[in-house]
Amino acid sequence: MPEPLAVSPRFSATFTRRNLLAISGLLLTAFAVMTAVLIHIAHTQNRQAAEQSRFFAEKAVQARQHQLLLQIGDYAYWGDAYQHLHAEVDLEWAFTRQNLGPSLYKDFEYEGILVVAPDNRIAYAVIEGQLQPLDARQWLQGDIDTLVQQARESSEEEVSQPAILHVKGRPALVAAAGFTTGSDPLISPLPGEPSVLLFVDVLTPDKLLTLGKGYALERLRLEQADEEPDSQASLPLGTSGFNLRWDAPQPGRQLLAVLLPLLLLAGLVLALLAWLVLRHALVTARLIEVGYRSLEVSRSALGHSEARFRDVAEATSDWLWETDAQRRLCYLSERFQAVTGFNPADWLGRPLEEMLQGESLSLLEWITDRSQPAGVRRTLRCSYTDRDAMQRICSLAMRRIEDDRGLLGYRGTASDITEEVQAQARIEHLSLHDGLTGLPNRRRMQAFLEGRLQHLSTGGHSLAMLCIDLDRFKLVNDSLGHAAGDQVLGQVSQRLRQCVRDGDLVARQGGDEFTLVLTSTVSHQGIERLCARLIQALEQPFEVDGHEVFIGASIGIAMAPHDAAQADELLRFADIALYQAKTSGRNTWRFYAQEMNQRICERRLLENDLRQALAGAQLRLDFQPRYCLEGLQMVGAEALVRWQHPRHGLLGPDRFIGLAEETGLIGALGAWVLRQACTAAMDWPQPLAVSVNLSPVQFRRGALVALVRDVLIETGLSATRLELEITESVMLDDSEGALQTLNELKALGVRLALDDFGTGYSSLSYLRAYPFDSLKIDRSFIADLDSTENNHAIVHAIVGLGKALSLRVTAEGVETAEQLDLLRSEGCDEVQGFLLSPPLPGEQLYRLLQSGAALTH
Ligand code: C2E
Ligand code: CA
Ligand code: CA
Repeated sequence: MPEPLAVSPRFSATFTRRNLLAISGLLLTAFAVMTAVLIHIAHTQNRQAAEQSRFFAEKAVQARQHQLLLQIGDYAYWGDAYQHLHAEVDLEWAFTRQNLGPSLYKDFEYEGILVVAPDNRIAYAVIEGQLQPLDARQWLQGDIDTLVQQARESSEEEVSQPAILHVKGRPALVAAAGFTTGSDPLISPLPGEPSVLLFVDVLTPDKLLTLGKGYALERLRLEQADEEPDSQASLPLGTSGFNLRWDAPQPGRQLLAVLLPLLLLAGLVLALLAWLVLRHALVTARLIEVGYRSLEVSRSALGHSEARFRDVAEATSDWLWETDAQRRLCYLSERFQAVTGFNPADWLGRPLEEMLQGESLSLLEWITDRSQPAGVRRTLRCSYTDRDAMQRICSLAMRRIEDDRGLLGYRGTASDITEEVQAQARIEHLSLHDGLTGLPNRRRMQAFLEGRLQHLSTGGHSLAMLCIDLDRFKLVNDSLGHAAGDQVLGQVSQRLRQCVRDGDLVARQGGDEFTLVLTSTVSHQGIERLCARLIQALEQPFEVDGHEVFIGASIGIAMAPHDAAQADELLRFADIALYQAKTSGRNTWRFYAQEMNQRICERRLLENDLRQALAGAQLRLDFQPRYCLEGLQMVGAEALVRWQHPRHGLLGPDRFIGLAEETGLIGALGAWVLRQACTAAMDWPQPLAVSVNLSPVQFRRGALVALVRDVLIETGLSATRLELEITESVMLDDSEGALQTLNELKALGVRLALDDFGTGYSSLSYLRAYPFDSLKIDRSFIADLDSTENNHAIVHAIVGLGKALSLRVTAEGVETAEQLDLLRSEGCDEVQGFLLSPPLPGEQLYRLLQSGAALTH
C-alpha cells in the first residue's frame, strides 16, 4: 500500500494555479480601479474648470453689457445730446464734431449709433463709423420697436437691459436709452415722447477674442445654439439662437496625459510580470501534475502487479510463505488465514517448524538440508492442527533464497491436500474393506500377506494361511433371503474376530469365504486348537429375525514358508486344502499336503508350451473397443492377448501372463503384443488410439523405452495414438525407477493410463506425482455397481478424484445398461465392456471400423 500523502501533489498543483490566477485577477482589478479613479479625478477637474470658465464667461458678457449701459447712459442723459439729437438732429454737432460720431466706433467698437425719433423713424445712424444714409432698420434686425418702447418707459435710474439683436446674421448687444436733459438745468424738456439712443455692439470674432482674454477664456467665439449643447464650455446668448463658446481649460486631461501613459506602462509591466510568474507557476504545476500522474501511473502499475500477484496467490488454495534464514516467518499470504483459520500476525516471527510437522522426516532437517542447490524446489508432506483443532495435511514446497552474502531465507507454498488425502484414505479403505462386514477384503488380505511373507523371507516368523468356507450358508440365503444372509455374515465375522489375536488378520474373501492370516499361532497343535475353536464358534446358532440359524465351516490351511513363500501360491494351497476339507465331510479342517498339488505340474507343462507358442503362431490379439461415454463414440481399442493352445484350446491371459512373468517370457511376449498392436492400428481406417497392457516385469527389465520407441519408428504409428496401460504394482516395486521410465515414455509422446485403479495401495500419491493421462476404474468395482452401495461410493470417489487431477476416467467391465447410466450420472469419461462390445478378433474390428457404423454405438 503506498503511503498516503498529507496533501496530494495534484491538489497542490491545482491550488497553486488557482492562487496565481486569483492574484493576477486582483492585480488587474486594482489596476483598473486606479485607472478609473484617475479618469474620474481628471473628469472632475475638467468639470470644475469648465464651471469656473462658464462663470467667467457670464461675467464677461455682463461686464460688456454693463459697459454698454454705462456709456449709453453717459450720452443719453446729457443735455447737449438732448438738444442736438432729440430736439433737432444736428449732424454737425453729432457726427462732424464727433460728439456721437465715428469715435465711438473707433474707441469702443460700437458698430452702430442710432437715434430713433419719437415717430420711430431712425433720425440718426452712424454705422461702423460712417454716417449711414440707408435705412438702419435693414442693417439692424430684430424687434427694435419693443426695445425702443422699453427705453422710453424706463427712467434714468432704471435703464433697461441691453437686448440681443442681429446684424448681418451675427448677434449684437443693443442698449437703448431715451434722451433726457440730464442734470442740465438750462434745458427744459420738450413735451411728448423722447427720442431713443441705441448703441449696437456687434459680437465680432475679434471682439469676442479680446473679451475672452480678459477673462481667461480661450478662443471665445459664437456657435449656433442648435449645435451640440455642451453646457460646460458654452453659454446661451439669450434667445439669439447663438451660444458663446470657448475652449474650457482641461486640467484633468493634462493630468491624464501625464499619468495615464505611466499607469499603462506600469500595468503592462505588471501584466508581463504576472504572466511570467503565472506561466512559470503553471509549468511547475503541470510538471507536478505530470509527475503526480506518472507517479499515479507507476503506482497503479505497481498496484496492478500487486493485484495480479494477489489474485494469483488468492486463486489457488495454496498459501505462500517466506522466512528469514532462521526460518522465522516473515510473510504469509492472505490465503493463510482462510485455509488455517489462524491470524497471520500470530505466526509471523515464529519458526515454520513450530507450526508444521513433516510426515516422513522432521521439517527442520528437511529445510536445513543443504544437499540440494538453492533455487531447487522441494516438497514435503506436512501435517498441522488448524485453529478449529482439526488435523490438516499440506504439501509444503520450498526453495532456498541465497545471494553472494549467503542464505537469506526460505520461500515456498503450502498446498492443502487434506481433502485429497482423506479421499485417498476413503478410497483405500473402501477398496480394501468389505462393505458388508467391514472386514479387510481380499486385496487387503493379499497385501497383508505379501508384506508378511516379505518379512518372513528376511528371517521372520512363519505364518499360516487359513481359508474358511461356511457350510449350509446357501440354504440360509435361499430360505430366509439375502438380508438374513447378510446378517449371518456380519455375525460370522464378529465371531471370527473374537477367535484370533491381535496381529492376525481376518478377511472376507467374497461370498461365504473368509481367510485368516495367522502370524502368532503357527505351531501345528496351536492351529488345530484354533480351528476347533473356530468351528465350534460357527456351529453356535445365529439369531436372525427371530429365527435360529445353524451353519458350520470347513477350513483349509497352508503354511509359509513350509508350503509356499508366494502369496498367491499360499492362497491356492490353502484353497486346495479347503477343498479337501469339504470333500472330507464338512465342519473340519485340513492342512495342505504336497500331493494335493497337481496344478503345479500343469504349470510346468504350460511354461514349455508358451515358449513354443511364442516361436510358433499360437498367440493372437483381440481388440476391445473403448467408447467415449458422451455420445458413445468409439475412441480406441485395447489389445488383449489370447493363446490358441493346441491341446487346451483358447486360453485367456489370466492363464499364462503370470507364468510368462515368472519365467521371464513376458519380455518377448510383451514386445510381440506391442508390435502387433501398433501394426494393426496402422491398418485401421480411422486413426483411433490403441491401448497396450504392460506388465510390471517389463518395467523392471529396462529397455522398455527403447522398445516402444523402436516399435513406433518401425510401424510408423504416431506416438499420440499409443496408450500404455500400467498397473499400480509398477510403482510399488520401484517408484523412483518407474517414475523415470514413465517420464521417458511420456517424452516419446505416448499416453499413459493407470489400469485397475482402486485395487492398489497408494493410488493417490502416484497419481499426483506421475505423468498419467487417464485412469481405469477396476472392473471389480463396476461389476455390481448397481447393487452395491459400497462400489457406488468408490466409483463416485474415483471419478471425483480423476476430475480433481484432470485425468480422463475410463470404466471397464461395463455389462449392463444400469451400470452405464450410473457411470454417466457420475460423470465418467469413457467406458469399455461387454455391454458395448466384447474383445474382437483383429479382422472383425477392422470390418467394424471400415463399416463406419461402429464409430457410434
Ligand atoms: P485388463 O487389463 O483389466 O483387461 C480387461 C479385461 O476385462 C479383459 O480380460 C477383458 O476381456 C475383460 N472384460 C472386458 N469387458 C468385460 C466385461 O464387460 N465384463 C467382464 N467380466 N470382463 C470384461 P482378458 O482379456 O481376460 O484380460 C485379462 C487381463 O490380462 C487384462 O486385464 C490384463 O491385465 C491382462 N492382459 C491382457 N492382455 C495382456 C497383454 O498383452 N500383456 C499383459 N501384460 N497383460 C495382458
Ligand atoms: Ca488393461
Ligand atoms: Ca483393467
